[in-house]
Amino acid sequence: MTQASFSTHEVFNQSPPFWNVDLFTLDRPLVEAVNVNGGASAQHELAQFGQHWGSAEMAERGRLANENTPKLRTFDSRGVRRDEVEFHPAYHELMAHSAHAGVHNSTWTSDGRPAGGAAEVVRAAKFYIASQVETGHLCPITMTRASVAALAVQPELLAKTMPVISTRSYDPSFAPWWTKRGMTLGMGMTEKQGGTDVRANMTRAERDGDAYRVTGHKWFMSAPMCDAFLVLAQADEGLTCFFMPRFAPDGSVNALHFQRLKDKLGNRSNASSEVEFHGAYATRIGEEGKGIRTIIQMVQLTRQDCAIASAGLMRSGLAHALHHARHRSVFQKRLADQPLMQAVLSDMALHVEASIALVMRLCRAFDRASENAGEAAYMRLLTPAIKYWVCKSAPGFLYEAMECLGGNGYVEEGILARHYRESPVNAIWEGSGNVMCLDVLRALSREADAALAVLRELAEGTQGLPGASEAVAFIGKAFSRPDSERVARLAVERLALLATTAALNQVSPRHAELFAATRLAATHAGMYGAVELGDGDVRALLERALP
Ligand SMILES: Cc1cc2nc3c(=O)[nH]c(=O)nc-3n(C[C@H](O)[C@H](O)[C@H](O)COP(=O)(O)OP(=O)(O)OC[C@H]3O[C@@H](n4cnc5c(N)ncnc54)[C@H](O)[C@@H]3O)c2cc1C
Repeated sequence: MTQASFSTHEVFNQSPPFWNVDLFTLDRPLVEAVNVNGGASAQHELAQFGQHWGSAEMAERGRLANENTPKLRTFDSRGVRRDEVEFHPAYHELMAHSAHAGVHNSTWTSDGRPAGGAAEVVRAAKFYIASQVETGHLCPITMTRASVAALAVQPELLAKTMPVISTRSYDPSFAPWWTKRGMTLGMGMTEKQGGTDVRANMTRAERDGDAYRVTGHKWFMSAPMCDAFLVLAQADEGLTCFFMPRFAPDGSVNALHFQRLKDKLGNRSNASSEVEFHGAYATRIGEEGKGIRTIIQMVQLTRQDCAIASAGLMRSGLAHALHHARHRSVFQKRLADQPLMQAVLSDMALHVEASIALVMRLCRAFDRASENAGEAAYMRLLTPAIKYWVCKSAPGFLYEAMECLGGNGYVEEGILARHYRESPVNAIWEGSGNVMCLDVLRALSREADAALAVLRELAEGTQGLPGASEAVAFIGKAFSRPDSERVARLAVERLALLATTAALNQVSPRHAELFAATRLAATHAGMYGAVELGDGDVRALLERALP
């Protein structure tokens, strides 16, 4: 759009908006990580997705969905309960675009089996790109995709729901799921007295014929307009997983009563509710008393998505920072040409390149786990370590990205303030930092041989790289200490760094060497740019990140 010019208001030395770009093709580290991990044949599909999600229209939808936050409509004017949440149309449009591309289901066949091939890698690329534009709506998208793994424990329920889950339609109508063109699913585990410790759940489930009546509360239950929830409640035999639809089989609205919506730091386009169940209709998934074992199938997949989304947020921060630095001049020289800014940006580019190589390697393990025991062990041991490292690195990274834009980075018209507020949540939900470390310890003690084989694979994949053999020795020693919990963060971070070096070595050996030299052989400073990289490496990193 051409703007009228005023003598008092001439805008220059500002970067143009970072819109109408192909978020896939422009991102060489992403393209190469997808190729190396089996997704090369999806280039065209991903380029189309990248172009679409990089458009100005999609960016605008992201802004509108976050500025016009969801509203809880508890009652109507006559006092009749509604328990509905209203979203801005832009939110629904984002949901429809993600569903249309299969981000909520493309890793499953239409009857709920793993799709195989490189389905995880290709979908992860889409999830990574979409999270650069709007992350809030991805909450129900990720939960819907993940729920299939838990529904599989109850085959007749899976058979009934898959025809509706597997469509690429988004149907926001408030109606029974079995009448809809598409459906979304959420989960309710966390209660006031315990989120990590779900065994402390007080919600009760009483048998009612073939079904159950559930009474209790959930302190966090996101995406409350989902068509059904996987809920934990205490049955006679102990904590059990249930399928709780918004409508009972007779077509009446089920007894889920929303108390209020959380007023959150970020993730504002997504509603997160506090809810009470007053004898809500539910059916069992899996055996009574096996609720954690059942729902963990779902949680494993949402943890994977937390890491992908955090990497996506950082990629967006880097791309905006680089784009700005290439257009903004300070002291008659573009910021991108100032040696100190180059040091910062190239170090950040190395972090993002490493993160995407790592999450794509993890997704390859998800793709192959059902037929390869080594990949299954990689997935189980490293999902919590990768969630820990990638998600916890995002807030500090996004702060640095904001600073690269100076004051413009800090204001709400730009996307970086939103990304920054969004970034801590992926570390907090679906298992917070310490819980992820304890999970790694648990995987090690339960499957010591398989874990050792994974460590051996990482040692081979990083052979000769700076600090790698020392890291392998450190990890082995730390995890075999009787007080390993004390040093779990140290050891899990090293494990994640080693896995990152190995994953990056398959994509770009030179960058794996740089990563190892600055993160394994030396302890990376708290600040980006406090490393010494050569001119050639700086140029190569920045050119790859954004041509
Ligand atoms: C925006 C948002 C949306 C959410 N949506 C949902 C949802 O849809 N469904 C749902 O079920 N939940 C949801 N949650 C809840 C979330 O999963 C929990 O908040 C999270 O699991 C942590 O539980 P908690 O809040 O009870 O904290 P706690 O369990 O009390 O943990 C507090 C801290 O203690 C640490 N800790 C726990 N155990 C140990 C230990 N043994 N040793 C050392 N440290 C430990 C944890 O790492 C954490 O840092 C949501 C949360 C947020 C913020």
